[in-house]
Amino acid sequence: MSVSLVTVAHVNSPSDLHPRLLVTDLDNTLWDWFAAWHGSFSAMLDRLIEISGVPAEVLEPQIRAVHQARGTAEYSFLLDEVPALVEASGTVPPSERYDEALHQLHSRRRAMTRLYPGVLETLTVLKEAGVAVAAYTESLAFWTEWRIRWTGLDELIDRLYSAPDHDLPNGLTREQVRTKADDEYGLQHTKHLPLPRGVMKPNAEILRSILDDCGVQPWQAVYVGDSLMKDIAMAQSVGVLDVHAKYGQAHEKAEYELLRRVTHWSDEDVEREKELSLRPEVRPTVVLERGFAELLPVFGLDRVSA
Ligand SMILES: [Mg+2]
Repeated sequence: MSVSLVTVAHVNSPSDLHPRLLVTDLDNTLWDWFAAWHGSFSAMLDRLIEISGVPAEVLEPQIRAVHQARGTAEYSFLLDEVPALVEASGTVPPSERYDEALHQLHSRRRAMTRLYPGVLETLTVLKEAGVAVAAYTESLAFWTEWRIRWTGLDELIDRLYSAPDHDLPNGLTREQVRTKADDEYGLQHTKHLPLPRGVMKPNAEILRSILDDCGVQPWQAVYVGDSLMKDIAMAQSVGVLDVHAKYGQAHEKAEYELLRRVTHWSDEDVEREKELSLRPEVRPTVVLERGFAELLPVFGLDRVSA
């Protein structure tokens, strides 16, 4: 069924009573980060195990140690820093020896990174209605910028707040590791503002600073995200209307165990996340059951028809 854009003019709508700002989480709210991560990472891992001969039981903990040191589960130079792969690949760096595994990672990531249905249409309607959009993510700068470009949201997100990237290995410079033209990196329209390194959600102070930055009061903003603990609890503590992207929740899926085994989070973080996900105590004010387009009535706008 085709999706048409319908912006309903609310002639009588006193627009100053409607929210002026949407603060949105990105991963598993606008796109299925987890599915793309799992699909691409597991394909790479399977291929690595096959061609290097290093078993999963050895690889996974070593990968986790690198992810923890770099503060991300999306570390571009991973293979060359996993000791068992360095040993198995001999005189050639693992990233060259096992480049077909990296090819799996990149091609699956491209194929599986897609917006949830209705996201593009909904953000377009919000933009036309004059609502500003700020994105707040825990993912690091490089891959977040890539996902915004890849999914076509560079025009639709006004401000992006993310932590800067991990350091590059062995004193390499950004220019040395870039293989494409400069205009294939970064964002043209979205203003990217850095957050302090290592600050995790929920962080009320960061959300308050985003509101200040955008010049709005808490009651003039709406926050949407898929995590009850990280997104909803944070929005509630700041007095911003919280909206739960229930359709995006991924932590109950069996595949989520792989992320827990190789994640950059500490053991304590993993346990805390697991425990809280099993007995959510946070009750969201608004719930998006099926998709992002259900957000529009919160802004006094009609849903896009599908
Ligand atoms: Mg999320």
